[in-house]
Amino acid sequence: MAENKIPTLKDSSGPIAFQTEIKQLLDILIHSLYTKREIFLRELLSNASDALTQMRFIIQTDHDVLDPSRELEIRIELDHKNGILTISDSGIGMTKEEMQTNLGTIAQSGAKAFLEAAEGDESDLVDVIGRFGVGFYSVFMVAEWVKVTSRSYRIDQEAASWFATGADTFEIGAAEKEDRGTTIEVKLKEDAREFLEESRIREVVKTHSNYLPYPIYLNEGEEQINQQKAIWRENPRSVEDGDYEDFYRQLTLELEPPLEKIHFVADAPLLIYALLYLPAKLDRGLFTLREQDGLKLFARKILIEEYSKDLLPPYFRFVQGVVDAEDLPLNVSRESVQASALMSRIKKILTNQVILKLKEMASKDPDLYGRFWQEFGQFIKEGIAANDEHREDLSALLRFHSTTMPDQWFSLDDYLDHMKPGQEKIYYILGDDERSISRSPHLDYFQTHCVEVLTLTDPVDSFMLLGLREYHEVPLQNVADSDLELPDLEEEGEGEVSQVEEPLEDEVLEKLLATFRDVLGDRVSDVRTTDRLTNSVARLVDAKGALGQEVQRVYRMMDREYQIPKKILEINPAHPIIKRVGLLEDNSDLTSLVIEQIFDSALLLEGQHPDPVSMIPRIQQLIESALDGK
Ligand code: ADP
Ligand code: MG
Repeated sequence: MAENKIPTLKDSSGPIAFQTEIKQLLDILIHSLYTKREIFLRELLSNASDALTQMRFIIQTDHDVLDPSRELEIRIELDHKNGILTISDSGIGMTKEEMQTNLGTIAQSGAKAFLEAAEGDESDLVDVIGRFGVGFYSVFMVAEWVKVTSRSYRIDQEAASWFATGADTFEIGAAEKEDRGTTIEVKLKEDAREFLEESRIREVVKTHSNYLPYPIYLNEGEEQINQQKAIWRENPRSVEDGDYEDFYRQLTLELEPPLEKIHFVADAPLLIYALLYLPAKLDRGLFTLREQDGLKLFARKILIEEYSKDLLPPYFRFVQGVVDAEDLPLNVSRESVQASALMSRIKKILTNQVILKLKEMASKDPDLYGRFWQEFGQFIKEGIAANDEHREDLSALLRFHSTTMPDQWFSLDDYLDHMKPGQEKIYYILGDDERSISRSPHLDYFQTHCVEVLTLTDPVDSFMLLGLREYHEVPLQNVADSDLELPDLEEEGEGEVSQVEEPLEDEVLEKLLATFRDVLGDRVSDVRTTDRLTNSVARLVDAKGALGQEVQRVYRMMDREYQIPKKILEINPAHPIIKRVGLLEDNSDLTSLVIEQIFDSALLLEGQHPDPVSMIPRIQQLIESALDGK
């Protein structure tokens, strides 16, 4: 019976072993993953589409190819009699060597990543198999055997076939194929015969592959079964929300719907159609949404760049979508002056639209904007660091926590509204996390006067500050600056102000400072007193003329060897601890223990202690002295 005939290959290579991870992958696909088997069709169609896109690029510059004028298309044939589903494309095809490499032997990091992910929850894993770069193998969920016959677009190459049953090996042999492209015959398993039904195929194509940029035909038919509708060219009012989401899903393979979409037509200075999406999540690591950042660039519906990075500034690289420019010459080399002038005009329009949408979200739907900020705020900060023409707009989009409102996101405009009469600056503090910041000695004055201080704990904040020195002409001011001029404000804080004691006599104080300098040696650039502190014992500040704290942090991030310049230790002469240590008898062991600990504590508060655990022995000594004293 024809039905069970297994193909044999001419000039077969004999069995070639699949690479180990692929064997394991096949094993899982065949034996344990039965959900959503239909996605095999999406994966094969997406490979066909990729091969067609590559072909389209090649034809633009090279006419010396096989079948240069053949339509770029995909065909699906359903052979009921033999139980075989066939998918053919007129894409770039593969040579014998390419088949061997692409379908089975070369180390596949994607297979490994997929296996690792499969160890966890595997329920929806098949749905995202394409993201691991191993989509092709999903065909073995439905196939008894698969035969791939392909002919490369390169004129001097011959056709070849690849065959496998999903066992540990595959084989490669010679083939007869006159035209360019790839044909994949899938002998369906008994329980996968549903994929021989036209209606089922139409349904699957509509769900998963409706917007592939090439026509898909069924069974010799002339009618396209995918919509291939350029929805970005439709009037936004006529597109349904569901269509937007479908298109997004197919564009990105993202499971979660987008946070927002931006769909517009602009006709000056040139006609462009754009459909952009703000994703719901900043995708990380394993599940990268597309291979690269960038927008799909079309010129009159013809895809000319898959990942165009020239259409938005780098800090908007999380934006996904499609741009279709009417007047972009198809064959223009991207380096040409004309092209780059056009591109920069498009970029300006798109950037403004994204900013507009974000502002609109921020004002109309703060919760939605909050979700955006949580995921993508770092990109806005990066944009400010980039210091381009949009800095003002981006600054308005920033959201902060502060010492007075640690659990709420608010804007710089809100901050300006909260300012005290007489306050002329926007104060901020840099640190590693909000909890340690809240204990910072630099905040003493601000806490006792209830002045709001922005708490900046994101590593990218230091970069941002390099580009953000003022907002609506109100300067930003780091509260850790030693020469900071404090506004003259009334005290109203409820923080426990240390009982005001008489400061030490000058003479005693001078002697104490000398002892501090002695003990700390060249670990500090100086020791001096300050009147800035109320509840805190001491703090570290930068010496005059030192690089700003922001710049130091940036340096430290870029170069781990970077040594933070030595700081000045400022002590609070009115603090009981300082007073008492000043009154200890000369050269007491306790004096140097206390000084060391004051210094270490100050380092810790600055987030600069290299080894906090090393303080333990000293703390024990201090405990012992305290106990002895009792
Ligand atoms: P991915 O598509 O992510 O690269 P797949 O497992 O789906 O991973 O496909 C593996 C490779 O096989 C592709 O990268 C491509 O080189 C090759 N391939 C698969 N299908 C085709 C096709 N129809 N035409 C040309 N090459 C193909
Ligand atoms: Mg693929």
